[in-house]
Amino acid sequence: MDVTFYGAAGEVTGSMHLLDTGTDRILFDCGMFQGRRKESKEKNKTFPIDRGKITNMVLSHAHIDHSGRIPMLTSKDFSGRVVTTRPTADALDYMLMDSGHIQESDAQYLNYKSLRSFLYQLEQNNVKQSVTNKEKSTIKKLLKKNAYELNNQAIYKLQKQHDLDIVTPLYTMDEARQSLSFIDGYPFQYPITIGKDTTVKFYVAGHILGSAFSVITIKKEGKTFKILYTGDVGRFGKPILKDPTLVFDEEDRDIDLLITESTYGDREHEPVEDLGASLKKVLNDTFDRGGSVIIPSFAYGRTQELIYILHELYDKGEVPKHPIYVDSPLASNITKVFGEHPEVYDKETHETFLEKGKNPFYFDKIKFVQTVQESMRLTQDRTSSHVVISASGMCEAGRILHHLRYKIHDPKNTILLVGYMAQHTLGRRIQELGFENTQTGEKDNAPEIKILGKKYPLRAKVEKIGGFSAHADKHELERIITGSNLRVKKIGIVHGEESQSAAFAKILQQKGYETIIPKPGDKIPL
Ligand SMILES: [Zn+2]
Repeated sequence: MDVTFYGAAGEVTGSMHLLDTGTDRILFDCGMFQGRRKESKEKNKTFPIDRGKITNMVLSHAHIDHSGRIPMLTSKDFSGRVVTTRPTADALDYMLMDSGHIQESDAQYLNYKSLRSFLYQLEQNNVKQSVTNKEKSTIKKLLKKNAYELNNQAIYKLQKQHDLDIVTPLYTMDEARQSLSFIDGYPFQYPITIGKDTTVKFYVAGHILGSAFSVITIKKEGKTFKILYTGDVGRFGKPILKDPTLVFDEEDRDIDLLITESTYGDREHEPVEDLGASLKKVLNDTFDRGGSVIIPSFAYGRTQELIYILHELYDKGEVPKHPIYVDSPLASNITKVFGEHPEVYDKETHETFLEKGKNPFYFDKIKFVQTVQESMRLTQDRTSSHVVISASGMCEAGRILHHLRYKIHDPKNTILLVGYMAQHTLGRRIQELGFENTQTGEKDNAPEIKILGKKYPLRAKVEKIGGFSAHADKHELERIITGSNLRVKKIGIVHGEESQSAAFAKILQQKGYETIIPKPGDKIPL
């Protein structure tokens, strides 16, 4: 009996581990690799396991780096079930469809770009000189329906006609839709059969709505084996969600192998309590200047935390009640899922909102923007103060780009960063250049930021609020192991960059634990 590590081994994305009990093969998570486009595309393309031989799958939570390759699992030979918690199952309806949509549009955009440069080349050879802007625009018009929409049919036809390579998506929206019928949601702390004499029980992990620790029990030849897979671990004392579990059922206390994440295995977070006060200051300062606050935010988790804290501030009358717009269809849908699962909220949320008959995510000043037309109208509103929460979180795509395009030049406005901005993203550029500028108070020499191919001066204030992280820091990760009622024999450390996993292993070794940091393809025996 062993566990093999196929993803998130020595890195933070692509979570996928396989338990082989001798009788059954149980997959833990089926995530997508994310990061540099070309490299991750290559890694996502091949499914490393024979799908027909997987009995069932256990899913820790709905983030795409843990769930994004489910449509690839279910599209070929797999006849098992995907077992997860109820809120996660509900969220997947939107997360996987959105992912299918992104895969399709990425492929379409790549096809458009390669065909466009092929046609420019063709034109150049015909006229024996470089292509004029007029000719370029004629070609673009042929391939596009309007400024934002590609003419995919025309592109496909021309690619065929010229015998060009066609990029296909990792999976389509149709495949994503089909995969949804494989997913079953179950309550927490309830044993579910996933193989011969093998069960899984979910405990609250506190990372995002529905996220779970999975305790797998295998009974074999008169012996009982237990594995605890953490998935991603949340923080203690955050709004909305219950804290990560520290008290496990008596029969689940002896863990033979604990597989833990280590994203922040070497880091300490700021305390979570300051969020309301920091948010209040940013809003009041911006509204005093007559400006608006633009918040790029992840659709799942971060957006709902912001809504929750804003709701509290508005209720207490701590900020002027200007309208708040959530402008991301995915964020609006996920907020709906939050509203449907009060069973996973913490005590404070129940006391502050539910017991007073209030839904934490809906109040009179909040508006969920649906159509593109509504969104475009909002981007052009430059006179009345408001708050916009929009995706994507790192400003790589989506409606946030249009809000930035129309508001970034105006020093009255604030761009508020509430999440991690990875290298080489627009969010990171705004963070680096904007901070410098906000600090020096420089007005004449505004840095230029390129959005959708055009340059804009960054004159809006750039502010950042930390403490929003959904991942436990090193102390909180350690608390699950040493501060809970678990008795752990062996620990496999995954889901972390090398330095983070190694530092966390060292902490655990000093406490006397046996630790292993598996590389891709490595096995840990039981
Ligand atoms: Zn996650």
